[in-house]
Amino acid sequence: MRSVVLLFALPISCAPIAIHPSSTLVSAEVRGPTATPNPDLTRSTSDTQEIADLISETMRVIHLPAFERNLRAVSSDFGPIAQSPFGQRLPSSVIADLYAGRDPAYSFYPARVTWTEGEGASSTGGDGIIRLSKLVHDNWRAGSTMRRSLAINSLAHELSHTLSSRRDMLSMVFVDRGFSFGWLRGRPPIASYTIGSVAQCTFLEEHGQMAEGLSACLRRYGVWHFTPPQFD
Ligand SMILES: [Zn+2]
Repeated sequence: MRSVVLLFALPISCAPIAIHPSSTLVSAEVRGPTATPNPDLTRSTSDTQEIADLISETMRVIHLPAFERNLRAVSSDFGPIAQSPFGQRLPSSVIADLYAGRDPAYSFYPARVTWTEGEGASSTGGDGIIRLSKLVHDNWRAGSTMRRSLAINSLAHELSHTLSSRRDMLSMVFVDRGFSFGWLRGRPPIASYTIGSVAQCTFLEEHGQMAEGLSACLRRYGVWHFTPPQFD
């Protein structure tokens, strides 16, 4: 039986930091998350290529104008977005600026991405290594737009955990550790899950598969939790 805690990050601190959005944003240059495949000699060349392809496609999606538009629009229906389950609540426009790297007070720790073995959840460590679960690997390899959208959700989500309040180490700004779907549901959307689902829905929209509209798509794929089991 699956755990209700479907995905979690491994923050180096459980106490949410206070976000102080800067009044001076860097608008000319988008400086969002960065990621490369984690060198892993035990992995096959095809595994590494699949990681590179997923990174490339996820980066492409989160830099689409439609992704920005969709993320900024979330609060119009869902209200403020929570930085973490006990963290600050911010307009989705601020979340979008943070995720695009426009706030000079915050920066992205360079991520290295690898597949994990077994059935464990995806996670992001304080070392900046994103470990994507076998489920995500299976979704990406399946090849359909639907299954690939799920993998893009996962990586866009994990990349949100690499936003750091410090430049010398990864001090996570967006945290979601260890809270059940049942506890979170009905509370403000959680930034990390919302970002992942906005990326997924934007990808589906691009492929003509978001006829239900953004809000319904986000409710389907989750703003309080990772992708529901029925979509795994
Ligand atoms: Zn997470």
